[in-house]
Amino acid sequence: MKILVAEDELITRRKLVALLTRWGYEVVETCDGLAAWRVMQGPDIPRLAVIDWMMPGMDGLQLCQSIRQGAPEQYVYILLVTAKNRQEDVIAGLDAGADDYITKPFDAHELRVRVRAGQRILELQDELIAAREAQRQRASQDALTGALNRRTIIEGLTRELSRAQSESVSVGVIMMDLDYFKMINDTYGHPVGDLVLRETVARLQRDLRPQDLLGRYGGEEFLAVLPGCTIEDTAKVAERLRQRLAGEPIRLPEVLLHVTGSFGVAASHDAVHDADRLMQMADASLYRAKREGRNRVALAEEETVLLD
Ligand code: GH3
Ligand code: MG
Ligand code: MG
Ligand code: MG
Repeated sequence: MKILVAEDELITRRKLVALLTRWGYEVVETCDGLAAWRVMQGPDIPRLAVIDWMMPGMDGLQLCQSIRQGAPEQYVYILLVTAKNRQEDVIAGLDAGADDYITKPFDAHELRVRVRAGQRILELQDELIAAREAQRQRASQDALTGALNRRTIIEGLTRELSRAQSESVSVGVIMMDLDYFKMINDTYGHPVGDLVLRETVARLQRDLRPQDLLGRYGGEEFLAVLPGCTIEDTAKVAERLRQRLAGEPIRLPEVLLHVTGSFGVAASHDAVHDADRLMQMADASLYRAKREGRNRVALAEEETVLLD
């Protein structure tokens, strides 16, 4: 872990640097508050700062306040080093944003224990952030396929539509439903059906761009959102997805399955920029693709296409 040392007295600074280095920390050494503040504004800043109170230029309290006001992306744990140990000084130090303090002349063992306590807090905070991120991911994903869940894909479509409207571009949507999927379940069992759903998502993802969104809209029905795409662009992508799915059988341990899907395509334009309306149009096209024989792409009704 990287630690900042901000201390103007040479002897104390040397001691701090020597101890922290010996304990395995990577030390960034500065001899006044302004130099320390410059370090804390750079990239890849230290997570923990050992800061002397009395320094020329910018003192330790001002440095604490600046770090807190700057609100770096990751929390910086601040250990204030001070010759002042009157109660009001301690309160002023903590009030300026320090997490803990140690008084001079400091004892090496005490320093070590306080730095470790700071490190523990930072580690706990990292774990909390990682857990929150994992939770956020789980809450937005479909557990079986890893595609976005229904709520999240619809939110994504709504967001992309309002952005597209302000930038006067179009958003394409593709509604896809697997053909005769019930037969796969009935013939090979539900677990094989599940594997087919996962492989379907993996194949669709492969042909989408990083900015495209893919969600599981229902059981074996998927919705792709293509920011910036016109209906023509979207139809091309849908055709590529159709071929990707139908082109090669899905290889499972016991069977080779020929799986196809039907695709309904729609895109937003001046007259249509509402998520529900767009999904209805894509859905209507999808059902036309089913009616016309499945394993095909159908575009939203003529009149809406002509408006585009
Ligand atoms: P069509 O070509 O008209 O779309 O026919 P289909 O058989 O695909 O359509 P239908 O709506 O009759 O069947 C969809 C099936 O998808 C029924 C349902 O049991 C199955 N299904 C829905 N969710 C899951 C799932 O999570 N896992 C599995 N294995 N099957 C699922
Ligand atoms: Mg000093
Ligand atoms: Mg189906
Ligand atoms: Mg269906």
